[in-house]
Amino acid sequence: MSDKLLEIKDLHVNAGEKEILKGLNLNIKKGEVHVIMGPNGAGKSTLANVILNNPQYTKKSGSVEFEGENINDLSTDQIAKKGIFMSFQLPEEIPGISTMNFLKYAKNKVTEKPVKIFEFKDTVKKYSEELSMNPKLIERNLNVGFSGGEKKKNEILQMLVLNPKLAILDETDSGLDVDAIKIVSKGIEMFKNDDNAVLIITHNTRILNHLKVDYVHVLVNGQIVKTSTAELAEEIEETGYAQYKK
Ligand code: ADP
Ligand code: MG
Repeated sequence: MSDKLLEIKDLHVNAGEKEILKGLNLNIKKGEVHVIMGPNGAGKSTLANVILNNPQYTKKSGSVEFEGENINDLSTDQIAKKGIFMSFQLPEEIPGISTMNFLKYAKNKVTEKPVKIFEFKDTVKKYSEELSMNPKLIERNLNVGFSGGEKKKNEILQMLVLNPKLAILDETDSGLDVDAIKIVSKGIEMFKNDDNAVLIITHNTRILNHLKVDYVHVLVNGQIVKTSTAELAEEIEETGYAQYKK
């Protein structure tokens, strides 16, 4: 069996008339943790969104393959069912549905079979404890009035509960204090196994102190301009992105 998970080939993406991704290549195999760093506006969130085929973006050319299948034209729902999860840079507040019911709904939707409710509640409770979340949060309306840190932990909770093959985390660590960063890293470590992969988009090298990372990519102006091992993150911490900008 192949250990290929995500393969992006020469991807060009527009938002309206504006070209944002300009020939991007990326390969992720099972068992790997990848980090993408890059200056503001480089196209990092666009990349995450376009993998899930967010209709705000148009693929002009190139391909996104997941487990060897071209998923360019699948809907976001279908892609989620294939096992790709994305956490949002700015998680939305959704009144009218509790966190628990949202998780149940999402799990039903991606697995296409009803969850066993008692088992499911136990799982959610166990993970939320591991993430040191206030137990009341899962009964409250999704993200409504949650602090920034609580919203981010809630994204990690979703990842653990949905258990995707590929988790894309868009700046899940930004705005977190040191303790919360440790907990988010712990959540990622708990999730990680030889059959899945994580793509972490971050500005912050602090999260890398707590995580074993296989590859660090630098994304500048819609392209990945450098790929290396974890040390690349330290180098960027020191020197910034200037040398990668043309
Ligand atoms: P990053 O996450 O690296 O900071 P983004 O992917 O959010 O960058 O954005 C890259 C560029 O594309 C920015 O200049 C941004 O303003 C632009 N952009 C992103 N999404 C849209 C959109 N839906 N419509 C128009 N421009 C967009
Ligand atoms: Mg972004």
